[in-house]
Amino acid sequence: MAPNAPRSLLPLVALLFTLLAGCGAPPPADPIAAAPPSPVSRPAATATASPPQRPSPTPAPSATLAPATATPAPTLALATATPDPDAPPRVGLQVGHWKIEEHPEEQIRLRKFSGAYYGGYDEWELNILIAEEVQRLLEAAGVTVELLPATVPVGYQADLFVSIHVDGVTGDQAATRRGWKVATPFGASRASEALAAAIATSYPAATGLPADPQGPSYDMRAYYAFAAYRYWHSVAPTTPAVIVECGFMTHPADREVLFEQTERVGTGIAEGILAYLQEYHPADPDMREPRGLAMGRPAAADVPLYARADVSSAVQLTLDRDQPLVQVARADGWRLVFTHGDGWELGWLRESDVEILDEAIAPPHPCCGE
Ligand SMILES: [Zn+2]
Repeated sequence: MAPNAPRSLLPLVALLFTLLAGCGAPPPADPIAAAPPSPVSRPAATATASPPQRPSPTPAPSATLAPATATPAPTLALATATPDPDAPPRVGLQVGHWKIEEHPEEQIRLRKFSGAYYGGYDEWELNILIAEEVQRLLEAAGVTVELLPATVPVGYQADLFVSIHVDGVTGDQAATRRGWKVATPFGASRASEALAAAIATSYPAATGLPADPQGPSYDMRAYYAFAAYRYWHSVAPTTPAVIVECGFMTHPADREVLFEQTERVGTGIAEGILAYLQEYHPADPDMREPRGLAMGRPAAADVPLYARADVSSAVQLTLDRDQPLVQVARADGWRLVFTHGDGWELGWLRESDVEILDEAIAPPHPCCGE
C-alpha cells in the first residue's frame, strides 16, 4: 500500500476500497519466468554482484523544481546519477515500509504506516523478498543497485528509482480484490512514464497476474517519496521514478505468486527496468524534467478547494489569498493542488481561482533530522 494520502483523502480512499469489484481470470502459466534478463549494454564489465548497500547520504537537496510555466527554467539542475558514461547504471530499489521507525521528523506520521499484512506477515517482509530478487537479477546484468528503506535520502538521485509494495484489503474484499499496478509521480517526467510503461509490459508477462482494474490511485501518484514539494527526504524530481504495487497479499491467487513464485515477481520488475535502461538516454535532460508542477496562490480571498473537479462536490477548505499552493496536475479548467494547513490537503481549484507564480517549488518546512 502506498502511504501518501493527505488526511483529507483518507475517507475517499477508504470509500474506494469499499467499492471494489472482482476481476480477471486466473493467471496463465508463464513460460518465460525463468529466463534471466539479458545484460544491459551500458555497463562496462563488472557483472559481479555487490552486497546490498545501505543508502549512503546523498548531496544536499537539489532542491527545487522548475515552475511549470510556458517557459520552464533551462537551468534546472539535472540529477545525473552516473556522470561517468562508462559507469554502470545505478538503480534505487525502495522496500516499502522497511524501517518505518527511522522516518525523520518531517515524516513522523509515516512511522505508524506499516502497510498491508496477511498471515503474520507485514508488508515489508514480502516487499524485501521481492526487492532482493530484483536486485539479484539487476546485479547479474551489471547494474548497480541500492536497496533503500522507507526513508529516502534527501534529494535522492539515481538513474531510476522503483518503490516496491504489495496491497492488502480486509473483509469480503479480500476474496475479490487483486492485481498489480504501477504509477508515476504527479508531474512525471517522460522518463518516469517510459519506465512505468516498460514495467507495465514486463510485469504481467513474467507473473501472469492481472492488472488491478481500478488502476493507480492518487495515493500512488502522491507517494511521499516522490513528493519533493512536500518532503526533503524524497527522490529528486529529475530521477525517473515509479511505484509498483505487485498484487494483493490478501488474495489467494495473487498470494500464490507473490509468496511462492517470488522469482517471477522479481523478474517482472527487473525486465522492465532493463528494457528501460536499454532505451534510456541519460544525457537527454528533457526526458528527466518534471512536467505540470507549479507554485501558485489563490487569485482572490476565500477561494474554495473542492474535493473533485466539480463545483457541486464538497468544499474541503476555504483558502486565503496568501495560501501557497503546489499545482500537481491540470484538467479541463481545473487545477489539482496540494496546500499545507494543519496537514497536507489535496484538492481541486477552478483554473480562474489560481494565480501561478514564477517561484521554485520546495518543501514548506526546514529539513529535519539531517
Ligand atoms: Zn505499501
